[in-house]
Amino acid sequence: MAGEKYVYDFSEGHKGLKELLGGKGANLAEMTRLGLPVPAGFIVTTRACQAYLATGHNPDGLDAEIDEHLAALERTMGRRLGDAEDPLLVSVRSGAAFSMPGMMETVLNVGLTDASVTGLAAQAGGNERFAWDSYRRLIQMFGKTVCDVPGEEFSDALEEAKKAKGATDDLHLDAADLRALVDRFKRIFAKHTGYDFPQDPREQMRLAMEAVFRSWNAERAVLYRRQERIPADLGTAVNVCSMVFGNLGADSGTGVAFTRDPASGSQGIYGDYLSNAQGEDVVAGIRNTVPLEDLKRLDPKSYEELLAIMAKLEGHYRDLCDIEFTIERGKLWMLQTRVGKRTAAAAFRIAAQLVDEGMITLDEALRRVSGAQLAQLMFPRFDLSADPAVLTKGIGASPGAASGRAVFSAARAAELAAEGEDVILVRRETNPEDLAGMIAARGILTARGGKTSHAAVVARGMGRTCVCGADQLEISGTRFTVNGQTVAEGDVISVDGTTGRVYLGSVPVRPSEVVQYFEGDMVEESTLVDAVHTIMGHADATRRLAVRTNADTGEDAARARRFGAEGIGLCRTEHMFLGDRKELVERLILSSTESARNDALAALLPLQRADFVDLFRAMDGLPVTVRLIDPPLHEFLPSLEELAVNVAVARERGEENAEEAQLLDAVRRMHEQNPMLGLRGVRLGLVIPGLFAMQVRAITEAAVQLAGEGLNPRPEIMVPLVGAVQELEMVRQECEQIVAEVVADSGVEILIGTMIEVPRAALTAGQIAEAADFFSFGTNDLTQMGWGFSRDDVEGAFFWRYLELGIFGISPFESIDRDGVGRLIRIAAEEGRAVRPELKLGVCGEHGGDPESVHFFHEVGLDYVSCSPFRVPVARLEAGRAAVTSEDSDSR
Ligand code: PEP
Ligand code: MG
Repeated sequence: MAGEKYVYDFSEGHKGLKELLGGKGANLAEMTRLGLPVPAGFIVTTRACQAYLATGHNPDGLDAEIDEHLAALERTMGRRLGDAEDPLLVSVRSGAAFSMPGMMETVLNVGLTDASVTGLAAQAGGNERFAWDSYRRLIQMFGKTVCDVPGEEFSDALEEAKKAKGATDDLHLDAADLRALVDRFKRIFAKHTGYDFPQDPREQMRLAMEAVFRSWNAERAVLYRRQERIPADLGTAVNVCSMVFGNLGADSGTGVAFTRDPASGSQGIYGDYLSNAQGEDVVAGIRNTVPLEDLKRLDPKSYEELLAIMAKLEGHYRDLCDIEFTIERGKLWMLQTRVGKRTAAAAFRIAAQLVDEGMITLDEALRRVSGAQLAQLMFPRFDLSADPAVLTKGIGASPGAASGRAVFSAARAAELAAEGEDVILVRRETNPEDLAGMIAARGILTARGGKTSHAAVVARGMGRTCVCGADQLEISGTRFTVNGQTVAEGDVISVDGTTGRVYLGSVPVRPSEVVQYFEGDMVEESTLVDAVHTIMGHADATRRLAVRTNADTGEDAARARRFGAEGIGLCRTEHMFLGDRKELVERLILSSTESARNDALAALLPLQRADFVDLFRAMDGLPVTVRLIDPPLHEFLPSLEELAVNVAVARERGEENAEEAQLLDAVRRMHEQNPMLGLRGVRLGLVIPGLFAMQVRAITEAAVQLAGEGLNPRPEIMVPLVGAVQELEMVRQECEQIVAEVVADSGVEILIGTMIEVPRAALTAGQIAEAADFFSFGTNDLTQMGWGFSRDDVEGAFFWRYLELGIFGISPFESIDRDGVGRLIRIAAEEGRAVRPELKLGVCGEHGGDPESVHFFHEVGLDYVSCSPFRVPVARLEAGRAAVTSEDSDSR
C-alpha cells in the first residue's frame, strides 16, 4: 500500500500493537514508554514481511524508511553503524505476534567489519579480546542464520581452538586466539557461500533483515505454526536494537528473570545470571549460570534496580512477566519482556493471587486459565520427590503418567500385555499397523513426529499417555540409546504425557488433588485447590450454559453430580443391554413370532425399570434425558462369519443343527454393509413393535415409583436418529399414550424430544420442532454424516495425514467444525426456536466437553452441554470463560 508506515521507532509503539510490531517489538516499545532503560532501536512491521514474502523483495519505500530510522538511531547513540573509529552495532531479531520458539532468528553485533573491530576495541578501553570475540560471534551467527552455513563447522572450529589452547571454556581464549578464529570463520563462510563475509555494515543489516523475513517460511516454523494452529499469513516483525554488551568483563553479564515462579506461581525472585557473557550463551548453556539472587552480591545496584523494574512490569502488565536483561559495565539494560508462559498449576495460582492482590478482576482471572489446563491438573501425575533420572524429553502429546516395560514392536506389546505386563510401546514413529500394540500399551513413546503425528492423534483418541518426537532416541532393533544410556526390551521406563519427560525405571504415580477436591474428598491445605475453587466458583456464577453429563449408570451419574453436573444429557440405553442382557436383545431382534418377541420384551422390562430407578435417584431433582435404544445392529447380532463357519463345519460333519441354520438365515437377512447408516435408532423402533414402548413404560414406571417415595424424578425421553418429522410424530404418539396411562395422577412430568444428528433433521428443524419439546445435538453422528467420515475408522486410518496436510488443524470429531457441522447446528437452533421459542437446546456428542466447542455452543445460544463425567469441570470452566470472553488481549 502506497504511503504505508513500515518502520516504528521503539518510542512510537506500544503493547497493543502486537499484530503489527510482533510481541517482542510491541513490548520493547511499551518498556520504552514506561521510561525503562531499553537500548534505542526500531521495528520493521509484520506487514513489511508479508509484502516481502508475497513479492520476494522489500516493498516500495521500506529501504528509505529504514535509512531514516537508522540515521535517527545513529544520532541518538552518537555513533554510526559500523564506523571504523567508534562503531554503532545492532542486533537484528525476529518477533512474531505469537511466540514461536521454532523460528527465532537472531543476529547480534551487526556492523562489525575488519575495520570497525579495532574501533570497538578502542571504544571498550582497549579490550581487544572483547572486540574479536564479538566479531567471531557475528560471523558465526550471520553465517548460520543468514547464509545457511552449517553451524557445526563453526562450533567445531571453536572447540579445536579451545583444545589447541588446552582450555575448557571460551573465556580462556585470548585476543590473538580469537583473531585467528575470525580468520578461520571467514574461510568457512567463503567456502560455503562462494563470497567473502560482507564488509559493508548496511549490507549486513539488509541481509540479516531479509533472512528474518524468510525465516517465517522455514520448515520448522511452518511445522510449529501448523501444530499450534497459528495462521500462516501473519509474518514476523524485525527488531533492530542498538547493542549493549554483557561480555565486557566481570562487571558485565546477562540474565533472564521471572516475576513469579512459572512452575508453581509462587511469588519470589526467579532467574539465572551469567557474568561476562552475551544472551545466547545463557540459552546455549555454554557456561553454568548462577541463581539470580547471586547478583545481589555481584552488583547490588543493578540488582535493586532490576527488582524495582520487575515490580513495575508486573504491576503494569498485571501478570507474570519474563524478562531478559544485560548489564554493561554496571549499567542495567532491559532487552525483552513478555507475559510469561507458565504451567497449568501456576496459571490457576497466579490468577487467584492477582485477584487477591486486587490487580485483576475475577472475570480476568477466568480468562487467564483454560479448560485444557484444568484437564491437565485432573490427570494423575508422577511423584517426582525421589528425583528419578530423566532419560530424555520429547513432546507431551497425550497427557497422563505411565510406567512399563519398553517394547519395540506392536506384536510384542500385545503379547506381553496379554501376560499381564504393563508395557510402553517405543517406536521411531507409529503407523496404522501398530494399532493393536498401542491399545495394549500403557504408554507410547516415539522418536519422530509432533502433536499431530499418527501416534499423537491415535493416543489422544483413546486416552493413552503418549510422548512423541523424542528425537534424541536412537532406536535399533529391540533397544534404544539416549545420552549414552541404553534401554533394552523389558527394561522399565516411565513416560509423562504432560511434560514430555521420559524416566528410567518406574516412577510412583500421585492422584490428582484437584480430582480429590471435585470428588469432595478431604484435601490437605493446597493453594492450588484454593485457586481452582475460587475460579470455578466464578465460572459457575457467570456461565449461561448449563452442564450435564452423559451417564448410563447410577454410579457414573452420582460421580458426575459431585463434579458439578446439573442433570443427565444423554443416557445411552443400548449400553444397558451389554453383558448378560445381550442375549435378550438378540432374541428380541431375531424373534420371528409375536409371542417370542413379547417374551423377550417382558423379560427386559423389569431390568430396564431398575436401571432407571438408579439413575433418577442419583439425579433426584435434576433432568435426566433417556435416549431410546440406538444400537448399530451388528453390535447386537451374533457374528455372521462365526455362525457361517459353524454351520458349514456342522454340515460337513453331517451334524446339521436346524436352529443354528435358521439363525444364520436371520443374521444374513439382517446383515448390513454400513451398520452406522442402517437399521438403528428410530428406524429400529419403528420396525420392531413394542421395543420403544417397553422402554417408555420402564422409564415412566421408574419415575412414578420414585415420585411415590417423595423424590422428584424429571425424565426426558429422547428419540435417536430422526431424519423426518413423521418418524418423531409416530413415536411421540405411542409414547404419549403410555406415559398418560402410567403417570395417571402421580404428578410426574415427562418431556419428549429428539436428537438432531442426521443432517436432514438439522435442515428440517422447523418441521421437527413441531413434535419436539427439546433438541439435543448428536454431534458425533452429525460430524460422521456431515463429512461422510466413518467415525469408527477414519481417525486411526488417515486423519494424521489430513492433519499433516493442514486440511484441518484438529479432528472434527474432537472439536466442532464451525463452518460445516456448526452451520447445521446454527440453522437447526434458529429454525427450531422460530417455531417453538421455548424449545430446549442441548448437545450430547463428544464435543460437549471440548473447550473450543463449548464456546461455539455458547455463541449459538444452546441451553446446555452434556459430556462424560470427567469432563464436566472442564465444561463448567469453559462455559464460564465463554460468558466473559471479549476481545480483551489478556484472554488466551
Ligand atoms: C452422537 O451421535 O453425537 C451421539 C451422542 O450419539 P451416539 O454417539 O450414541 O451415536
Ligand atoms: Mg448418535
